[in-house]
Parts: sequence; structure tokens; C-alpha cells
Amino acid sequence: MRPAILNPLFSETATLKGVGAALVRQLARLKLLRVIDLVFHMPVMAIERVQVEQIDESLVGRPIVVNLTVVRHDSGGPRSPLRVRAVDSGGQWVDLVFFGQSGAWARAKLPVQETRRISGRLDRYGQSLQISHPDVALPGEAMGPMLREPVYPLTEGVTNKRMGQIVGMALERAPDLPEWIEPSVLERHGWPAWRAALATAHDLRDEGRAKDRLAYDELLANQLALLLVRRDTRERRGRALAGDGRLTRPLVAGLPWALTGAQRRVLGEITGDMAQSSPMLRLLQGDVGSGKTLVALIAMLAAVEAGAQAALLAPTEILARQHFASISKMLAGLPVRVAILTGRDKGKVRLDLLDDLAMGRIDILIGTHAIFQEAVDYHDLGLVVVDEQHRFGVAQRLLLTGKAKAPPHLLAMTATPIPRSLQLTQYGEMDASQIDELPPGRQPIETRVMAVERMDEVVEGLGRHLAGGGQAYWVCPLVEGSESGDEAAAELRATMLKARFGDTVGLVHGRMKPAEKDAVMAAFSAGQLGLLVATTVIEVGVDVPNATLMIIEAAERFGLAQLHQLRGRVGRGSGRSVCLLLRGGDLSETAKARLKLMRETNDGFRIAEEDLRLRGAGEILGVRQSGEAAFRVADPERTAKFVAVARDDARLLLDRDGGLAGARGQAARVLLYLFERDAGVGMLRSG
Ligand code: ADP
Ligand code: MG
Repeated sequence: MRPAILNPLFSETATLKGVGAALVRQLARLKLLRVIDLVFHMPVMAIERVQVEQIDESLVGRPIVVNLTVVRHDSGGPRSPLRVRAVDSGGQWVDLVFFGQSGAWARAKLPVQETRRISGRLDRYGQSLQISHPDVALPGEAMGPMLREPVYPLTEGVTNKRMGQIVGMALERAPDLPEWIEPSVLERHGWPAWRAALATAHDLRDEGRAKDRLAYDELLANQLALLLVRRDTRERRGRALAGDGRLTRPLVAGLPWALTGAQRRVLGEITGDMAQSSPMLRLLQGDVGSGKTLVALIAMLAAVEAGAQAALLAPTEILARQHFASISKMLAGLPVRVAILTGRDKGKVRLDLLDDLAMGRIDILIGTHAIFQEAVDYHDLGLVVVDEQHRFGVAQRLLLTGKAKAPPHLLAMTATPIPRSLQLTQYGEMDASQIDELPPGRQPIETRVMAVERMDEVVEGLGRHLAGGGQAYWVCPLVEGSESGDEAAAELRATMLKARFGDTVGLVHGRMKPAEKDAVMAAFSAGQLGLLVATTVIEVGVDVPNATLMIIEAAERFGLAQLHQLRGRVGRGSGRSVCLLLRGGDLSETAKARLKLMRETNDGFRIAEEDLRLRGAGEILGVRQSGEAAFRVADPERTAKFVAVARDDARLLLDRDGGLAGARGQAARVLLYLFERDAGVGMLRSG
């Protein structure tokens, strides 16, 4: 249960004074639903006002604070604004202008012959100087807030002033919380206590250290949660699976090539884990084309040799079918029963398959999420492999291992090179292996950037490529904010290219019926189609070695990591491969620099680091929408700077404190709830 001390923070915004239904709705548009959301709604900058004794021309356009004496009220007509004429201490006239306010209001607030402290932006209007809708205070009043105003991200109908007030009320509700940070860490950085840090972060006066502290809090909560997940999983008794080689040996012997050194090394790490009874939690990274599928297959065969079943989870239907086809081919002649299950399999076929699975008549099941639905019962699931892991979050990973009586070993694979800081925050519960070597004979992909005006030339070149028996991909632009727009663009492009190249052109996009999609993919794999026009559905895993040309339209609209993934669809055979990035006109300097980086390097890690810097974690992990990768305060820079320390601090806390029982442990529980990582708390040993 959430510690009572946090309750004021988790109440709804409607509980704040003066926040009615309409405002609640407006705030909800910014995902500000509870007091805690407001507390972490940080200002982006502060407006600094200059305080002056006397006004002069040079101040026009600037926010100022000045003492003015009211001379006279001009009430104005029905359509014209209310004007209050005032002078500064040197006799300079200034008009204070109000739209939609009554004369009575103005007389009460700005009595004639009295002096008030006025704050607002000085403007010129014809011959006169004026300030519209100024803030008004008594001359002696504290002027802090009038001199500096934090500027908040806003939504329609909520002014910055109002937002500031609401956030202010939320901050007042924030209680003093017990300290969860290691005292030496706190001291080393000179960090303030939690509540003081919040106030400073909102005030934006020397807020650097305060924000560091708040980011660290979040990273610490994240690391604690991941380590709790890890500890809980590892402490459950799984099953040691040691293969005897009767399947893996003939498979490897039958391959036309040898395993790479990196493949052998990671296989050693994986089978080493599987031979232990505590369940494996391992992330396998390897750039596109590094041969992860084969590694997964060998691991799965080892599980089968040891008498267990294995499951391979793919993110898309296309990929599941392709894995099924290539794995079935590689296993030809071996006594292994492989099956596929996707959302499309229904009725009797599905029921029979489920029966076979439950009776242990299937050794390896390949499929989409359908393989982990409620009704799916395994006879004895020993190993789960998740392909293209970056699409799955921690919660989903937990679900996968929850399926079996004894938790299965888990191998997650991703082609996205993940920078170290991101690996810790997103996969911190897992061990990591890396395939850092491509199979021999691969030629680097040559990447070129071309202006879209040269489309004709590109189409000519494509024609020559197809005429020479080559195959190619044509990836269509993402249409901002509209999924159906993607497909329309792809259809249009396919129509144009069909008019030119005829029936050799195929089209796949996300909205097509699965069977149609498969048929097109199969025809392309078999070489019956020369050109595949597609949306990003081909992003992950599709493998057609004869396709050596890739054209990406409006490349500037894609993330770099995504471009790298797409590009990895070519360069899979021994032929020379080319990737053409078509770019629109009017690119920003950053956009140009990004495309240049794609041209210069094939190094997925460098590209991922750059994407992380420029676009944030969600872009790399492909979970921008789901919010899985989102932090409230820990930006990428601060994450890179502090996550390793947070990791150590979390580990120390758990190791030394056992079940977070001590005083700091209790504080850390509050922290987990504060950042809503409390799923991890359920895994705490009681006490
Ligand atoms: P990815 O890591 O992107 O999933 P794949 O597993 O699809 O890569 O492998 C890419 C291609 O490399 C496949 O055609 C596969 O058969 C081939 N391959 C895998 N291992 C080797 C190897 N050791 N030597 C040569 N080719 C290999
Ligand atoms: Mg793959």
C-alpha cells in the first residue's frame, strides 16, 4: 500500500482550490491529472524583468518592474479598452491598458494619486508608451515573483500566470519526505533535500543541482525497481537445461559456413546461464545481420535436447512467418517439431495446435503475442526468446516469464545498439551479451543522400538495377500523425512505379490483410517480385539477401536508429549494397547533419548515441508512444551522468539492507511509490 505521507500528492487536480471541471479537462490535455503531475510539471525557462526607477525608450519590448503614480482613469467606450494614465518618478507618462475590465475594478486596484508597483512588458502605441494587463502590487510588497516568472508548458485556456498558481498550490501540498539518497552521495554533490530541490527547480534560480537531485531520485527508483525484479526472478527456482548436443551438433555441421567467433562466445554465455537453475535474464545485442536468429535457434535446440519446450516471440506477423520458414528449413531432417501460432490462427487448427502444445507434441513454438495468451498452455516451457526486444517493456517481459510453473529462461534479442546508459535504465534487470562481429564476406553498405528533385535519376538507376536481376526496397515516408496517410503515400508510389516497371512491383503496408501481406513477402523472398514498396513494416528482421538496393523517401522524417534498421535490410548477401536516402528541400542544419552521419558510418552504436542525444530514448527503443521509456525529470544528459551511480547506490541499499528494512530502506519504499515503480515493492521480502 502507498505510504500515507504521499496521499496528498496522489489526489486529483480537482482537489486543489479553485480548480473546477473545465480546468481539470484543460490540465488533462497536458496529462496533468494529479497533484504529483503538477509537482513535476517543470518550467522551461524564466522571464527576467528589469527593475527600473524611470522609464525610457530603450526599454520598449522588455518586461519591466517600475513604480508608477496613477493620474487619471479613461474608461473608454464599449469597444475600446480601459486606460489608466500614470507617471513615473521622472514625469514620464505611461498608459496601463486593460481589455474587458470594469472601471470600478480599475479604480479599486489603481486609485488615483497613489503609487503602485507595476510589472509587465513596455510597448509603444502611436506616440505613447503603454503596458497591457500589468501585474499590480503595492510598492513595498515582496517583488520576487514579479521580477522573475517561470514559464510553464501550457495548453489552450490556461495562462502562464494561472499555471504558476496551480503549480504553486501543488508544491505546497508536497510533504517533507525522508531522505533516500546515500548521505555521502548527497554530500559529494551538494544536493538539497527533496522538497527544497522541488522548490528550486520550479524557481529556476540556480536550479542545476536541484534538477540533478530530482533526476537522480528518478533514476534511483528505476534502478531499485529493476534490481528488485531481477532479484525476484533469479531467486525463483527455474530449471537447469543442459543440452547433450544431439540436435545442435548436426545443425551446425550442416551449415554452409562456420559460426562466427562472436556467435560462439555469446552461445557460451547463454548455454552457461541455461545450465543454472536460476532463470536466465539475458539481453542479446547484435547489429542487423549479425546472425542472432541462428544463436536463438541453437539455444532453443539446447532446451529441447534437455527435454523442454522453447518459444520464439516475434513483434510482427511477417517476422514470425519468416522465422518459421527459415527455421523449418534449417531443421529439415532433424527430429524437432516446430509450429507457428499467430492471431490469425483460429478454429480447429488453433485448438489442435494448443492441444499438441499442452501435450508436449510441439518442441518449438514460433509466433506473435498470441503464443502468450491466456488459453495457451505449455507442457514444459523452458526457454523464451523474444526477438526485436526493443518493442517490449519490462512489464511485458515479466508476463512472459510468469507463464510457466517454474520460470523459464529468458533471452531477449535486439538489433538496436543500445547505449550503456539506456541499457541500464531500460534493461537493468538483465545481463547483456553482444555479437560484435558480422559474418565474413559482408560488404559495407554504401549510403548516399540525394535531393528528392533527383527522383527521375533514382528511378532510372532503379530500372538498371532491376534489369540486371537485382531486387530492391522502396520505403515510403511517414506521414505525421496519420497512420492511414502512410499507406496512401505507399499506394501512390507503388502505382507510379508499377506504371513504369509493371508486375515486378509489390506493395506491403500495415493495413493490408495479413494473408495478402504474406503472399507479397513470400513472392519477394522467392524472387518473383523485383521491387518491394513498403512502409516501415519491413523495418525489423526481413531477410532477402538478393535485395541489395534500398531507397528511402523523405529520410529526414525517420529516426536515425530507424534508418539504420531499415538500411540493414540490404547488405545481407555478399553483393555490394547501396542505400539511397532521398531528402526533401529546406532541411535544418541538424537534419542535414543527421543524414550526413548516416552516410559516414555503419556503426550502429554511434548512430544510437546520436539519436539518444538528439531525440531521446523513446526514439531508439520504439516506445515513444507507450511512455515506457519516459522519465519525468531525468533527461538523457542527466541519465548518462548519474545512472551508474544510481545503480551502485540501489545495489548497496538492497544488499546491505536485505529487504529495504532499515530507515533508508523505508525511505526508498516511499521513493518507489513516488515514481510509481511500486510493482517492485510487491517483490520485497516481507519485513
Ligand atoms: P539478425 O542478427 O539481423 O537477426 P540474421 O539472424 O537474420 O541476422 O542473419 C542474417 C543472415 O546471416 C542470415 O541470412 C543468416 O543465415 C546469415 N548468417 C548467420 N550466421 C552466419 C555465419 N556465421 N556466417 C555466414 N552467414 C551467417
Ligand atoms: Mg533478426
